[in-house]
Amino acid sequence: MTLNKIRRLGLDFDGTIASDFDPKNFLHIGTKAANPIHTNYIYRFFDILVTMFGTSYQTPQPNIQKFLETNNTIDFFIITGRPNYVARWTLVWLKKNNLLQHFKEIYFNRAGTSPLNNKLTCIKDHELDGHIDDNPIVILELAKKFPNKVFVLLNPVNSLTESDKFSNIFWAKNWIDVAEIIEKFK
Ligand SMILES: [Mg+2]
Repeated sequence: MTLNKIRRLGLDFDGTIASDFDPKNFLHIGTKAANPIHTNYIYRFFDILVTMFGTSYQTPQPNIQKFLETNNTIDFFIITGRPNYVARWTLVWLKKNNLLQHFKEIYFNRAGTSPLNNKLTCIKDHELDGHIDDNPIVILELAKKFPNKVFVLLNPVNSLTESDKFSNIFWAKNWIDVAEIIEKFK
C-alpha cells in the first residue's frame, strides 16, 4: 500500500512539541478521557490552575524549532488532548517559545470527548496526511483507522512492539529521527 505524501501534518502537544509534563495528571485532578469532571466547574478551575503552573515548567523538545522551520512547505496542526478551556495557557506557552507562528490551527479537546476520539475526528475532518504523537496507544489506533496515512511514534523507548506489524507506523526517538522520516514523504 502506498502511503500519502505529507502536505498536512498533525502534532500532539504534551510530550511531542513540549516536554512531557501532563498537567492533567498532576495532583490527580483534572480530566481523564470522557470524564464528567470536564463539566464540573470546581475541577475545571483546578485544571486551569494546574495547567498554568505546569505549562510554565515545560520546555520545547530539542530540535522541534529547527524541524518546523526547515519543513515550511508542510502545513502543521496541533491536535491535543488538552481541554479547550486551557487553550489560553497553551497559546501563551507557544508564543513565548516562538513556535506559535508555525501552526495553521490548534485543535483542543472538547469537553466529554476522549483524546483519542478527538484525534481521530480531527485527522479525518481536516484531511491530515499523518500525525506525530508520544502515546503508543494513540498511534496504534490511528494507524489502524487510517492505513494510508503516516504515523510517527515519538518516544525514547519504543514500547509499541505491535507497531512492527504496521507499515504506516514509524518510530523516532527524537526530532532528528522525525525529520529523517518525514523527509521520505515530502
Ligand atoms: Mg502526548
